Amino acid sequence: MSAPALLTVDLHALAANFRTLETVGRAPVHPVVKADAYGLGAEACARRLAAEGARTFFVARVSEGERLRAALGGGPAIYVLDGCLTGRAGRLRAADLRPVLNTEAQLAEWRTAGGGACGVQIDTGMNRLGFGAATAPEPFDGLRLVMSHLACADDPAEPMNARQRDAFAAAATRYPGVLRSFANSGGVFLGESYAFDATRPGICLYGGGPEGRPDERIRPVATLTAEVLQLRDVPAGETVGYSRGFTTTETTRVATVAAGYADGVLRSYSPRGMVAVAGTLRPIVGRVSMDVCAVDVTGLDVAVGDQVELFGGQRMIDDAATAAGTIAWELLTSIGSRVPRAYVG
Ligand SMILES: *Cc1c(COP(=O)(O)O)cnc(C)c1O
Repeated sequence: MSAPALLTVDLHALAANFRTLETVGRAPVHPVVKADAYGLGAEACARRLAAEGARTFFVARVSEGERLRAALGGGPAIYVLDGCLTGRAGRLRAADLRPVLNTEAQLAEWRTAGGGACGVQIDTGMNRLGFGAATAPEPFDGLRLVMSHLACADDPAEPMNARQRDAFAAAATRYPGVLRSFANSGGVFLGESYAFDATRPGICLYGGGPEGRPDERIRPVATLTAEVLQLRDVPAGETVGYSRGFTTTETTRVATVAAGYADGVLRSYSPRGMVAVAGTLRPIVGRVSMDVCAVDVTGLDVAVGDQVELFGGQRMIDDAATAAGTIAWELLTSIGSRVPRAYVG
């Protein structure tokens, strides 16, 4: 497949990361495929993960769950992290989705609609979603999963990790026989005591490292490439792009590449962004615009139509994210809808 900008998703690498996470965590992986599997395509990714043995998935929104149910058919359990907001129970039940209930009001809404299989989230210190440990509900019919979420899993030195783990372990004793899920990607790598009965990774499935930097145990999955549209030799003392964002100090060969912020090349790539061109890393120069960015390719053998790599096997996603002042999670979920996804493996 060829396109001006293309996201290639390596399903073999996705499957390898799934197996690695199960091995490291010594617990079944329940993949998080919210936000369209972090932009990679929830249907293709979830189907492949199901073929690898995944039986339970997590999404954030009811709409994501409905699409996933259509893609996977009956069988796999699909949990919706938003829970059960007012008026949503009908849609949840129609698609056989399981809300992760976060409040008394959600629990009441679910029960009033007839209830059924669901989860409960316990807040252990993140103060985002979930029941406080002291106000968690009594065990009830249909409760299949109790979970909590780490605030600092990407930092193994953070003492809050163990505090949350211990608070979760204590809270979960209230629900004997109910499956316990605690660790996201970072949590899987914090040690076996964090895994409980099933883990809930997202980013490491999709090729990001557990600590926000490349990790040799995790294989790159997503590769964003773009074509060179035009080449020019810019004389010394001229500027490149909007707002005169870059000034040449010598004659500079500039490649205009078919990927801009509408494709997911964040404006914050300027001034530190790098792309892989002909096997070497070269700087993005000037402002990233909506459809294109400019790359200094001075001295390289580059032709119009050649592909450069924004991230992938040559430019690791975590390094690209760091250069853009953000994280791999945001980089992946920012890839524009006009970028076709191609699946290999
Ligand atoms: C997004 C999310 C995850 C996955 O987190 P990663 O850091 O991508 O592994 C797990 N659990 C919850 C509750 C989430 O919101």
